[in-house]
Amino acid sequence: MSTDASALSNDQLRDQTLAWLKINLPDGWMDAVDSRDDAEVARLRSAQDYSEWCIRLGEDGYATPTWPAEYGAGMSLNPTQAKAVNDVLNHYKVARPYNIIGIGMGGPTLMAWGSEEMKHRLLKPMACNQEIWCQLFSEPGAGSDVAGLATRAVRDGDEWVVNGQKVWTTLAHVARWGMLVARTDPDAPKHAGLTYFVVDMEQEGVDVRPLVQITGDAEFNEVFFNDARVQDSWRLGREGDGWKAAITTLMNERVSLSGAGSVGGDAVGGSPIAKLIERHKGVTNPLVRQSIAQLYIESTLIRISNQRAAGKRKSGSEAGPEGSITKLQQAEFNKRLQNVALDLEGPSAIAWEGKNLSRVERIGRVGAAADDDSAIASGFLRAQANTIEGGTSDIMRNILGERVLGLPKEPDPSRSIPWKDVPRSV
Ligand SMILES: Cc1cc2nc3c(=O)[nH]c(=O)nc-3n(C[C@H](O)[C@H](O)[C@H](O)COP(=O)(O)OP(=O)(O)OC[C@H]3O[C@@H](n4cnc5c(N)ncnc54)[C@H](O)[C@@H]3O)c2cc1C
Repeated sequence: MSTDASALSNDQLRDQTLAWLKINLPDGWMDAVDSRDDAEVARLRSAQDYSEWCIRLGEDGYATPTWPAEYGAGMSLNPTQAKAVNDVLNHYKVARPYNIIGIGMGGPTLMAWGSEEMKHRLLKPMACNQEIWCQLFSEPGAGSDVAGLATRAVRDGDEWVVNGQKVWTTLAHVARWGMLVARTDPDAPKHAGLTYFVVDMEQEGVDVRPLVQITGDAEFNEVFFNDARVQDSWRLGREGDGWKAAITTLMNERVSLSGAGSVGGDAVGGSPIAKLIERHKGVTNPLVRQSIAQLYIESTLIRISNQRAAGKRKSGSEAGPEGSITKLQQAEFNKRLQNVALDLEGPSAIAWEGKNLSRVERIGRVGAAADDDSAIASGFLRAQANTIEGGTSDIMRNILGERVLGLPKEPDPSRSIPWKDVPRSV
């Protein structure tokens, strides 16, 4: 961006985005969207060079409009201004980077905890989808209680040597970098003995094994570290402060998964509410109309809650526990939405011909569900995962009880004793 976009009004930003799309999208794309010619949009989309498009979008700041422009891939916009830009991109069904873990969580964590050198090296290729990121938190013995994790990092001169196992690591099979939380002091209580690193996923000593989900996708993985190495200069925060940095990642993860993330709520699940209404607007059965109206009300409440949280961030606050409200709402809402969609579509929702887009492809191609027969079945099958990833709905309720309502903390006898003395099954 040559001009200072952050000084522009929302209307000016919309005009600027429209002008940019006119120059950069393939000829005929915008006309096809405006005339609702889905077949033509699909044809143009499949002819588009996705990698090249993501670089163009990222370099000009449109992939991450809120990021500081000084790192080469943002426009320094506030969330309201960014929404004006994203509304235009969403309307024109513009493909986005599938690097959701990097952009939604890695970027904000780097900006809060990383050195200037790391920000200049890592943010731009992240935004341009050239370097994919993954989050190495969960382990076979540490999911909801992630602070109990066992992967060890031991100091060796200017480096750390990492050994252990992570699991459910989304996108690890294509990742260049990983956000790693490892145990560096087993004698300290569990939250105090952790340190956060950015780890090179392409080195020897990192073994990634895909896991297949019920949808048929293999979007997440097991990751084994066998004497893998990380430079000490690629540590985020001080030694022992890993939990504090991890909280930044987790808070931003909840914002990403709440429907307020960089790719927009419509990318969550396979059957967005607008599409459901469009497909069933002629239905006269009052019970069906009632269930669609109820979903519409709930989706509106989530949108308003997200706007309120965005307003708080706009006033300078970092993502806080309010992200847990909309993460919980969105995950539970999506299950209801997918159930209704499946009921309404009937057998055609579970029997389809043709291409089965993976979730990564769907995220990369916002709006692509129109030409994807399997979207409803896949959205239905994946909806349960929304209530687990990024912290389960039970854990969101615990966070809301403790950090928003101020209820007493859940008893946890393992909090104050050395981690090495906590009984473990794995
Ligand atoms: C699609 C998907 C993608 C994921 N991607 C990643 C990723 O990229 N990186 C990563 O690090 N992790 C990832 N995860 C892992 C995810 O964060 C964990 O699955 C989640 O935190 C739950 O941990 P767990 O599976 O070990 O379940 P557990 O913690 O063993 O929980 C089992 C059950 O007990 C309940 N429970 C546990 N503790 C409490 C409590 N204190 N109070 C009330 N109920 C409780 C839970 O709600 C759940 O129902 C992903 C998960 C999914 C499903």
